[in-house]
Amino acid sequence: MIETLKSELQAAVGPENVIDEGDTLETLSKDFYWYSPVLKRQLDDKRADAIVRPGSLDELRRVVAACTRAKIPVVPRGAGTGNYGQCVPLYGGVVIDFARLDRIVSIQDGVVRAEAGARIGAIEAAARPLGWEMRCMPSTWVKSTIGGFFCGGSGGVGSITWGGINAPSNVKSVTILTCEEEPRLIRLEEADSLKALHTYGTTGFMVEVEMRLAPKVDYQQLILSSPDWDRLLAWTNAASRRVDWRKRLVTQFEWPIPSYFKPLAKHLRDGDSITFLLVDQAQVPEVIADAAAAGVDCVYNKPLSDPPKPPFLTDYTWNHTTLWAIKAEPSMTYIQAGFGANYAEQFAELRRRFPGEILFHLEFVAGNSKMMKREAVLNDPDSVVVGGIPLIFFKSEERLNEIIAACAEIGVFVANPHTVKLEEGGRHPNIAEKRAFKAEVDPQALLNPGKMATYPVNPFVGGAVTV
Ligand SMILES: Cc1cc2nc3c(=O)[nH]c(=O)nc-3n(C[C@H](O)[C@H](O)[C@H](O)COP(=O)(O)OP(=O)(O)OC[C@H]3O[C@@H](n4cnc5c(N)ncnc54)[C@H](O)[C@@H]3O)c2cc1C
Repeated sequence: MIETLKSELQAAVGPENVIDEGDTLETLSKDFYWYSPVLKRQLDDKRADAIVRPGSLDELRRVVAACTRAKIPVVPRGAGTGNYGQCVPLYGGVVIDFARLDRIVSIQDGVVRAEAGARIGAIEAAARPLGWEMRCMPSTWVKSTIGGFFCGGSGGVGSITWGGINAPSNVKSVTILTCEEEPRLIRLEEADSLKALHTYGTTGFMVEVEMRLAPKVDYQQLILSSPDWDRLLAWTNAASRRVDWRKRLVTQFEWPIPSYFKPLAKHLRDGDSITFLLVDQAQVPEVIADAAAAGVDCVYNKPLSDPPKPPFLTDYTWNHTTLWAIKAEPSMTYIQAGFGANYAEQFAELRRRFPGEILFHLEFVAGNSKMMKREAVLNDPDSVVVGGIPLIFFKSEERLNEIIAACAEIGVFVANPHTVKLEEGGRHPNIAEKRAFKAEVDPQALLNPGKMATYPVNPFVGGAVTV
């Protein structure tokens, strides 16, 4: 690293908070991109020149100013649990780790205000005694940061009731520090904040967020089991639309996915598909009776402890499922899918075209688009959509692309997790606004270069910049 920049960074945050060699540099340059054999090939050799850990807004300002003067790539980082190499620097430069900017400022009137580096698990633990809980959070909620979730994630646990981060009213405000020699603070409120959400750290440094919370529910963790996939699917789909059941999770796995969940083996039956449900404890007898009437058995029935303590069934859902699968079958990878109302036909068609190559893992969620129409998003049965993270036995990149193309052909939406490019990894109806906001907050295009692929300027194309 250029000595002047290094000494400026050290002066800003203390020498112990500037890391420019060793295993920690390597670890903090990476995320969970290796779930994708395609990204693994592309990103294994990428790393930062330095990691910097500011401990206050003032320190962050000084770090940003120094990096901007040096005209180097700058990449923000939360807990590094992203799956698409979002916080892996493509051109070296400085990674700014938000781990020390983790204060929960307040939890008041159903709104949490926190620094971007606050861990979601810490927010959930602080909110529950006050009668609140996170509306939606990733399955990595114990470890991941609220800023990383807003900038790299989409939804997860709780989305069956509240939708994802894009759903109206979930995010109250975000405060952004610009990437300039004299960094400025910009506060975006309500729908205006959407232009800074899920932008992979390309639209400024998120320093503080306000998120609305949900009234706390005491949950029971249930596993429902049946050897008959279709029978279970019919029950799970109906359960996901029960507006009177207070739910935080509805997930279905086809056999043999349950066999990958080793710690749960003693509860599970060979050959059975299973559904996970997090539901209000007061409603458990009714839920189990309803399942029994449909020929579906409850094989696991444990409270979610409060304060939260493992075991968490959420540790097997969303992209945790893929992790358990890769542990059991190293050749496994995944896609992220949104199915249509004809989901059963779509499953059948994919099974017909790719026999033995796809295993279905479904996540039921309240769809954001339906919720755009109303302020109160609670439990509209028509808003539930069947999404999921199907597992794929990886054969080759070409075959993976064939599967993704076939999905598009039959009307299955795929948020491709095998690309670092923001626009290819999901739906961005407001990408023009995101680009315009980037131009305003990052005039030199230093922030996470290469990730917003449709941004017209990337000063680092043509090779890594050595700092
Ligand atoms: C096992 C597993 C399960 C997962 N399950 C889910 C899930 O259920 N739902 C889901 O949405 N995601 C999921 N993910 C992805 C990821 O865990 C979440 O999106 C998580 O919230 C990311 O938070 P993080 O703190 O780790 O962010 P990071 O990975 O550190 O960063 C994510 C992105 O945000 C940017 N960023 C981070 N902090 C800031 C900041 N302060 N300012 C500006 N940009 C910033 C980074 O540059 C990067 O582009 C999963 C990942 C794994 C490995």
